[in-house]
Parts: sequence; structure tokens; C-alpha cells
Amino acid sequence: MTSVLTGTVAIVTGASSGIGHATALELAAQGASVALVARRQDRQDELVAEIEKTGGTALAVPTDISNRVQAEAAVTKTIEAFGRLDILVNNAGLMILGPFTEAGIDDFERMIAINQQGLLYMTKAALPYLQKAAGEDLRQVADIVNISSIAGRTAFPIMGVYNMTKFGVNGFSEALRQELAQAHVRVGVLEPGKVATELDSHNSDEVRADIEANFGGFQVLEPQDIADGVAYMVTRPWHTAIGELWIMPTEQG
Ligand code: NDP
Repeated sequence: MTSVLTGTVAIVTGASSGIGHATALELAAQGASVALVARRQDRQDELVAEIEKTGGTALAVPTDISNRVQAEAAVTKTIEAFGRLDILVNNAGLMILGPFTEAGIDDFERMIAINQQGLLYMTKAALPYLQKAAGEDLRQVADIVNISSIAGRTAFPIMGVYNMTKFGVNGFSEALRQELAQAHVRVGVLEPGKVATELDSHNSDEVRADIEANFGGFQVLEPQDIADGVAYMVTRPWHTAIGELWIMPTEQG
């Protein structure tokens, strides 16, 4: 069976868990060869096996995207393995919350390094290949999907620096969308509300209790709900670009 993504190649960052894991599976199921970019190779190897079992194609590319040399090498390895690049999903992220007055500078630096710098390194390295793919007949378009957050639209107490990284992702994405419009490289942001993943595992028990008190008590999203959104964005016909997709749990106020 062929689908819109047959013959395409995608990179998904943060593919070792949560939203990235589900997105890699979804894009592979729709026909893309997928490069899995994250630090935990054991998780990536398991996912490669899972994708291959269902007839898909995937490659583990162990990478710390906050390291520029490693981020560039991840793109190079993808091209060496698959020969082209059509889709970049910048999903890897870190969320460490807490009152600004009490939070550590190291945590700020790590969030900025992963959520913003890593995203920029991956985007810069991928762009020449995306532009080339966009000029070819296969789809006449290429895609960058940046996973932002509701925290990229609305500020909340204890989320200041995380808010800053995600508001930044939104601003960068829209600027790049305008720059690349004529080149047929679509740039879109996807802003999830609360999703059941490992994201808040990096927070203290106190902060997690605070999050549960303020953002709990309702049915949260599953990673597949977001993977469906990414798949929707990258399977539109070439003349249709989804610049922004905001996906919330129905009951999240
Ligand atoms: P997870 O913690 O499950 O996934 C985060 C992923 O990022 C992991 O695969 C991790 O892999 C990867 N990652 C972290 N640091 C690096 C790094 N330096 N280099 C490469 N990969 C890295 O959380 P989610 O799936 O929830 O998060 C995915 C995205 O969704 C994030 O950008 C997050 O901000 C966003 N988001 C999540 C929401 C939620 O409620 N869960 C809501 C809104 C947005 P590894 O550790 O193996 O490197």
C-alpha cells in the first residue's frame, strides 16, 4: 500500500519517548523512512525493531541535540542512510518548573539549550536538504513541524523560563514560515495541552503536586493524539500549509 509519505524521509527528535515515539511510529506507518534522534539508544533500538516488524524503515541516531556537532552529524547520518530529507519534526524538549526566585540557572540553561538551541541546530543543518526535496516532483513540498506548547501561547506561574523557550519557538517558526514560503518548505508549530508522557519526570515532587493541583483532574491527551496532528500537518497537499495547530484535552481549561 502506498500513502502520501511513501518515498519520503523524516527526522523526529525526541523519538525515544512520549510524543516523539508516537510520531515516529505514525510517520513510519504512513510510509516515511524515519531517523530517530535522541540520547537513549536502547529506546531507539526498540523502536527501530517495532517499526521494522510492521514493514517500516527506521534508523537509530543517538544524538544530544544541544551539542551542535552532534546535531549536524545526525542530519548527515540520515542523508547517508536514506539519501534525502523531506520532514523535520523538532520535538525534543525539557520542562523543569518552579518559582523563578528558587530555580537554578543550570536548569534554565539546559531548557534553552534543548528547546531552542537544539531546535535551531537541527533546523539549520536540515534546511538545505529540505529545500532540495521541496523542489522535487515527489511531493513538491517539505515540512518542518516544531512542537511548541500551550506554554508557547499563555504564560503561567512557575513556568517562566519554559514559557520563554516555547514563546520563542512560536516566534521563530512564524518568521521562518514567511522566509521559506516561496521555497515550498512549510513551517508549522503544534501546541499541545497536557499529554501523558515523561515530560514532568524531571520536576521535584513538590512541583509535580503543584502541576497536578493546577493542571489535573481531567482526561489528558495521549501521545498518539499529537502524532495524529503532526501526520495531518505533513500530509496536506503542497499548496496547503498548517502554520499553527493547537491541540488541547477537551476538559483542560
Ligand atoms: P518526554 O520527556 O517523554 O520526551 C522528551 C524527548 O526529548 C525524549 O525522547 C528525550 O530523549 C528527548 N530529549 C531531551 N533532551 C534531549 C537532547 N539533549 N537531545 C536529544 N533528545 C533529547 O516528553 P514529551 O513527549 O511530552 O515532550 C515532547 C515535546 O512536547 C517537548 O518539546 C515538550 O515541551 C512538548 N510538550 C509536551 C507536553 C506534555 O504535556 N507532555 C505539552 C506541550 C508540549 P532522551 O532523553 O533519550 O534524549
